[in-house]
Amino acid sequence: MPDLHFTSATATPQERAAVDAVLEDAPGDGRRDECRHMLLPVLHSINDRIGWISPGALNYAGERLDVAPAEAYGVATFYALFSTTPRAPRVVHVCDDIACMVAGTPSQIDAKDAEIARSPCLGLCDRAPAALLIEAGDSPKARQIAPVDAALANGVPAQPHVGGAPLGLLRRVGRVDPESLDAYRASGGYAALARALDMGAERVIAEVTASKLFGRGGAAFPTGRKMEAVARAPARPHYVICNADESEPGTFKDRVLMEHDPFALVEAITIAAYAAGCERGFIYVRGEYPLAAARLENAIAQAREHGQLGDDVMGRGMRFDVELRRGAGAYICGEETALFNSIEGKRGEPRNKPPFPVEAGLFGKPTLINNVETLANLPSIVLDGAAEYAKIGTPESTGTRLFCVSGAISRAGVYEVAHGTTLGELVEMAGGVPAPHCLRAILLGGAAGCMLGPDALSLPLSQEAARAASATLGSGVAMLFDERVDIAAILRRIARFFRDESCGQCVPCRVGTVRQEEALERGDLILLDEIGRVMRDASICGLGQTAANVIASARSNLEIWSS
Ligand code: SF4
Repeated sequence: MPDLHFTSATATPQERAAVDAVLEDAPGDGRRDECRHMLLPVLHSINDRIGWISPGALNYAGERLDVAPAEAYGVATFYALFSTTPRAPRVVHVCDDIACMVAGTPSQIDAKDAEIARSPCLGLCDRAPAALLIEAGDSPKARQIAPVDAALANGVPAQPHVGGAPLGLLRRVGRVDPESLDAYRASGGYAALARALDMGAERVIAEVTASKLFGRGGAAFPTGRKMEAVARAPARPHYVICNADESEPGTFKDRVLMEHDPFALVEAITIAAYAAGCERGFIYVRGEYPLAAARLENAIAQAREHGQLGDDVMGRGMRFDVELRRGAGAYICGEETALFNSIEGKRGEPRNKPPFPVEAGLFGKPTLINNVETLANLPSIVLDGAAEYAKIGTPESTGTRLFCVSGAISRAGVYEVAHGTTLGELVEMAGGVPAPHCLRAILLGGAAGCMLGPDALSLPLSQEAARAASATLGSGVAMLFDERVDIAAILRRIARFFRDESCGQCVPCRVGTVRQEEALERGDLILLDEIGRVMRDASICGLGQTAANVIASARSNLEIWSS
């Protein structure tokens, strides 16, 4: 255990260079207290180049940022992708989460000279089993490793499997070069931002509100209401954040959007910024998505170079720029207030609400935060109008929805369907359960979602229908299990996931997730019910509040443990 005070440990020249490289271009007016938000990028830089974060490197980072070493240590140890003990320069993070667990342990990974680390879901469930190779050095590398089909092996993106709805969010995926601004423009890109600037911010908000767009991350809050609240907030500045920390096990749709249509996200966040009066934005992308991060960096740089970001966006007098921030392996940072803390250079622990982000979010200022898929809907609402948008879907759940279909299915992938499509139709589009096997269970909505039986195939995929069935669409996961899968083992893995990912800040969740796993192991059903109730009622954030959902729904819907 290292001393948490400044020690005599000094940074090596390489460690100093890693810190200095990030801080040279750090925004702010030079005051040290304005630089704390650079702590996560600094820790990334050290970890990327050296492979781990030594006490000397932490001391130097703390000195440069005026952060106490105990604080810096607390932050560094919060994130799974950082190491504060020496480790090999090559680390293979092998996914052992539910989709990969069912698919089997990866066998093709060249683990020579590499350390193997266990990882929760890497967001590659459509190609399970999966791993992530990270190589430290002056030119650090990170590469996703997963069974690839011939098209991907040749560098051609896989085509999404698209359902009955007209192509909307996925229309450019696999068809338009994700690295070329020209190609994006030629495919209609930036027409929506131009239209938004013509309409004016108030009309943009009115259209988004009338479209009934709601958040696609699970909470389903109306997007227009959030936008309006931020636009009207008197405190300044306003921030806009894209929550791209897609870490819900079984979810990979935002990765597909970011990897294959990154300019669309940059355009969409600019439209959101315009509507809500924000001059600065962040895209917080999960650390396990290196390709998405690289393509977004490229898209942001090209947009800046061509005047789509900066002091005079599209020559129309709008000032807006966006910065990419990488997460570092913490599921909880997908919770919006934990994400604010992470950007601010603190441990990613959720805050109590209220105050809500629209009043006091990032740096205590009004903040509009939406996930990738939610933002990706904005261009079509602006271009086609709310009425046209709302023609797709159901009266309450308008538009299309992306579903991540994986597990026991013939064609795993991301599917775009109109809200109201049934779960059975979605499964059929994806080719159904491969014969001769039969469907045993479906995980809908992710680890915080629910476990359903085969009779749920008639469920319409809309907010209202899911609510009525005591289910949730959550983050768009539809993971199928056939009769060979041990569902109790899946539930134990989900319980372990929540135990590992609890930030530990509040007792009901910190203790509850541990006790839940133990009770599940023993089959203590009475205790499971009690723990579930306490976590739901008394936890600070959604992690603890939903950590018992899948287990409870499996018990009601699958009749396990009934004999
Ligand atoms: S519910 Fe869990 S994850 Fe959320 S604040 Fe409490 S301990 Fe942290």
